[in-house]
Amino acid sequence: MSEAAGADGRAIEFVCRACLASGYLGGINKLTSCLQCGSPRIVAHEELFSLTIAHLDCDAFYASVEKRDNPDLHDKPVIVGGGSRGVVAAACYIARQYGIRSAMPSWQAKRACPELIIIKPRMAHYSAVGSAVREAMSSLTPLVEPLSIDEAFLDLSGTNQLHRKCPAEALAALQQTILKDVGITVSVGLAANKSLAKIASDQDKPDGFYVIGAQEAPAWLADKPVNILFGMGKTSTARLAAENIQTCGQLLAAPEYLLKQHLGRDAGRITALARGEDRRPVTPHRAAKSISSETTFSHDISDKDELIAIADTLILTVSRRLKQKDLYGGRITLKLKQTDHRILTRSAPLSPPTDKAHRILDEVITLLSGEVGPRKFYRLLGVGVDALQPAGGAGLLDLMDEGAQKQDSLEQALDQLYDKHGDAAIISGRRFAQGYVKPTKK
Ligand SMILES: [Mg+2]
Repeated sequence: MSEAAGADGRAIEFVCRACLASGYLGGINKLTSCLQCGSPRIVAHEELFSLTIAHLDCDAFYASVEKRDNPDLHDKPVIVGGGSRGVVAAACYIARQYGIRSAMPSWQAKRACPELIIIKPRMAHYSAVGSAVREAMSSLTPLVEPLSIDEAFLDLSGTNQLHRKCPAEALAALQQTILKDVGITVSVGLAANKSLAKIASDQDKPDGFYVIGAQEAPAWLADKPVNILFGMGKTSTARLAAENIQTCGQLLAAPEYLLKQHLGRDAGRITALARGEDRRPVTPHRAAKSISSETTFSHDISDKDELIAIADTLILTVSRRLKQKDLYGGRITLKLKQTDHRILTRSAPLSPPTDKAHRILDEVITLLSGEVGPRKFYRLLGVGVDALQPAGGAGLLDLMDEGAQKQDSLEQALDQLYDKHGDAAIISGRRFAQGYVKPTKK
């Protein structure tokens, strides 16, 4: 770091994202270009060198990967999405100028921009590129918490010694490395906690670097809409809007009982986030390899519907565990123990990867159908998912057709009921018909 006189004691700290020069200057309150190389790609902030929590998010990820792989697409409007019934999974920044957004039906996007290029998704490929980005992140700190295929939180506290750079400098260098080695841009949000870092990364896209300091956070948030806060979904936002609470500032001014009434248990947490406070640590996922559940029957079973009902219950457990750990499974395995104790396993890919019970069940029913018959008796059934990956990416869900998406929404609503009343509260119709409630735990 170079030094400059701090005339009024309040020095502005800066990093140049072009030449990576850094330092601090006193007596000014704004710096618009690098004093060393003249680039406008300057990040300047009073707290720049002391902030340690970052959120990194790849820009228009799937579309950026396609453009990287095919330079002819560089200046063209591109989306990645499904065929006639499909929706937009990712839109490049040129396509966005036509009002095209994720989750919009592809036909609507095409109507908005007739020259739009629609590319079929290559999930396995994006997943490999996502891993390369994550590997680059891990070179800065072991504390990387992936949120989805293309974004993660990083905790860089205590890494100054290791890199001989403060987090802001290390992150500016990382953006350059990812662009050079992987060929795509990422946007960085740097702040004092996860909530602010995630909000920050979204402020200056694409190829952004945005800083929200701890001191300025409450004032910065005051006029921002409440749905900027983690956990504020459409329903809660609408309920607060009906009470004339639209901004974080208005939320903080609202009476506690009113917030409790509309946000329930989350009221305290959301209020803290509106003040810019968030104590959640950055927690790297423990590397679970697979998640499974199985049960041994009290009598040998041959009936297909009965086996499906049992599988349904086990899948519920597996799906709940995936959701709790924020993971998607990429492959399902069905395990059956025959009466002679021989074990039979059948696997199928889950494409796209999922945490949804109804989708896992569909695959299991297909696998099971090949193994049932009048003389085929079983004494144990198990289901397991592996090829686990961080959950998320609305893009992934958007690749499915409308019917599957509707079922996903239904399952989400059921999950909220489970959360409230416990697993025993709801028995799916199929299990109810079988008089089957819960298998003995193994
Ligand atoms: Mg992204």
